[in-house]
Amino acid sequence: MDSSHDIKGGSIGNLVPENHPRRESLLVRERLTELMQEGSVVPQGLIAHGRGECFDYLLGEKTNDFAMKSIDVSAALLLMSSHPVISVNGNMAALTPRELVQLSKETNAPLEVNLFYRNNEREIKIERILKEAGAEEVLGVGEDASATIPELFSERRRVSPRGILVADTVFLAMEDGDRTEALVKMGKKVIAVDLNPLSRTAMKASVTIVDNVIRTIPLLLKRVQEMKSKRKDELLHMINSFDNRENLREALQFMSRRLNQLALSL
Ligand code: ATP
Ligand code: MG
Repeated sequence: MDSSHDIKGGSIGNLVPENHPRRESLLVRERLTELMQEGSVVPQGLIAHGRGECFDYLLGEKTNDFAMKSIDVSAALLLMSSHPVISVNGNMAALTPRELVQLSKETNAPLEVNLFYRNNEREIKIERILKEAGAEEVLGVGEDASATIPELFSERRRVSPRGILVADTVFLAMEDGDRTEALVKMGKKVIAVDLNPLSRTAMKASVTIVDNVIRTIPLLLKRVQEMKSKRKDELLHMINSFDNRENLREALQFMSRRLNQLALSL
């Protein structure tokens, strides 16, 4: 099996002892650093990752109930959308390429390269990672990113006229707040994975999954597969009864309670 896109594969895995208490986290850091040197991840992506890791500590590095609830609602929304699109940036392609491709196939949602720091070389590198992970087509590369999102400037505004421009639902992660807000203003539903419940993306999205993409994407894929057999009215009910603000509140309250408990246990 090709292990080049497996976090545990290749040379990195051998450098970190099997019994290291933070093995997973170290492997992920190495993978991102390697892909930064190769050019698909940008240095700013490493800073974003560090910010994410900090919040993951506060979450206990696990998928909590409130995140599981958002994952279920996201699965329902992806299944009920006419034109869902999965927006992929450098960090996402580095962390979970195979699962993203599978999610795209299960939901009929095209993968679109959408970069904050866009250049053709990076687009092509990310496209290659996704194709090596099994993608047949990747939108948003080269001439395909010919449409623009209103209200955003420079390279940040470019999207595919077959993808994000016409999408009714956009799934994204590690996204900038301005762009999330611009997509919501265009009338799109935005599903965001963001470890920081206080980021502008987390606050502006229609459904926020406060969790690590590494855990979320495989879980979301599984829930999409399981929920395909559910009746449409059941899926609609799940979507309509979800309150994102309340869910974010639960995430913050969880962190606050956990910190208190940890403080008392010292
Ligand atoms: P915003 O632009 O939304 O106000 P920001 O400027 O702090 O937030 P960005 O760099 O624009 O952050 O987006 C990166 C976001 O992705 C951060 O909120 C960070 O916590 C989050 N993040 C980083 N790594 C992961 C990960 N593995 N899984 C989920 N979220 C992550
Ligand atoms: Mg930002």
